[in-house]
Amino acid sequence: MQKIEGLKTVLSSTKKIIITTHSRPDADALGSSLGLMLFLDKLNHDVSVITPTDYPDFLKWMKGEDRVIVYNNENEEKSEKLVNEADLIFCLDFSALSRIDKLGDVVGKANGDKVLIDHHLQPEDFAKYMLHSIEAASTAELVYQFICEIGGNDIIDADIAECLYAGINTDTGSFRHANVTKTVFDVSAALVEKGANTSKVAKLIYDTNSENRLRLLGYALSENLKVLNEYNTAYFALTEKTLKKFNAQMGDTEGLVNYALSIKGIKLAALFKESDDGIKMSFRSVNSFSVNELARTHFNGGGHKNAAGGKSETNLKDTVQKFEALLKDYKVELTKEN
Ligand code: 5GP
Ligand code: MN
Repeated sequence: MQKIEGLKTVLSSTKKIIITTHSRPDADALGSSLGLMLFLDKLNHDVSVITPTDYPDFLKWMKGEDRVIVYNNENEEKSEKLVNEADLIFCLDFSALSRIDKLGDVVGKANGDKVLIDHHLQPEDFAKYMLHSIEAASTAELVYQFICEIGGNDIIDADIAECLYAGINTDTGSFRHANVTKTVFDVSAALVEKGANTSKVAKLIYDTNSENRLRLLGYALSENLKVLNEYNTAYFALTEKTLKKFNAQMGDTEGLVNYALSIKGIKLAALFKESDDGIKMSFRSVNSFSVNELARTHFNGGGHKNAAGGKSETNLKDTVQKFEALLKDYKVELTKEN
């Protein structure tokens, strides 16, 4: 393992570079990737971003988004060729190759040097260079640090700044989560100085709902939310039929789990979503309760202490039943003072 500063020399001559990030990219995943791509463009590298899956429409305003290659049937061969020919492969906002689905095998076997920039718990050891910190609220914050460490701060422009700011804003829950530090504000201020328009970014990410999305939210809150006061837990479980009824698009349930967590006294919140591929889960918690541990131990997932995800191949009913049954084991933790 080498320190990330070593890349300054590597990047002093033109390189073929791939940037990839986790499946169903969120604003931090895509913003970090595009911010880094635009920066490396300016250093005259040959850069492509490959994502394992598509991402929500509310991220499609980011500069350079039209160049993203989504690894699917149509693009598999092209993507694999690019990964295999790359000198450097940046892996952003994930710490386990399984998080990039089938692309994980391709990246794992590729000859190019891998660079991991990430803030998730339990990083795997597959990268030659690593900038990893679980103290960082977002990967975007670490990409900014990386750019500064290799002396590129001067060439950050408004487009780069807005991509990175989007990641910081969303991964901190609009500066509300426990991961907010002085560094978060320092980096955000520096990005504003570079031209990031914060109200524009907020509008584009949060206030571009479709009518269907709002109606799904309304349904979820009034009909679907289940509150288990005995365990200080609340959750939503959305069937595929319901999601279809509201014509739910990718990203339409993003943030929903936070409504469950916003109830006074609730310490654990979950969202279960049914799809063709099985059940996808989002977990959120407050204070010391670790949803990373819950997701890793019981739901084939992981993430951060207070925000994690998982998946299950059993049906929705059984998955929810398993979750409810598990709460008994966590009761002491969920009901203690802090
Ligand atoms: P979200 O609930 O917003 O999809 O994800 C919350 C956090 O957990 C994010 O940091 C995300 O990267 C991580 N995460 C989501 N799903 C999974 C998963 O299946 N496995 C792992 N290891 N992390 C996940
Ligand atoms: Mn992140």
